[in-house]
Amino acid sequence: MFYSGSCLCEAVKFTLNEQPVMMGNCHCRDCQRWTGCAYEPAMAFPKTSLKLHGVIRFHDKISDQGNTVSRGFLSRMRWRSNEQKHRF
Ligand SMILES: [Zn+2]
Repeated sequence: MFYSGSCLCEAVKFTLNEQPVMMGNCHCRDCQRWTGCAYEPAMAFPKTSLKLHGVIRFHDKISDQGNTVSRGFLSRMRWRSNEQKHRF
């Protein structure tokens, strides 16, 4: 195993057992929207190297270059501020 990790609440965990085939930063509009930053640091691995544990919902979108980009989200992911906790 080369890499392992989880989301903040540890509902989703992963391991990767191969080295990345690509590393870089993407500055496209989709990645800027996804991260809320000027770019997204990214690594690509062979699909067979990923072991994923947990429930993730994938959202597919066609990129500006015509490729399908799948981004995974925790099915129970949500956010609220301390102020909102008292109002809702
Ligand atoms: Zn991008």
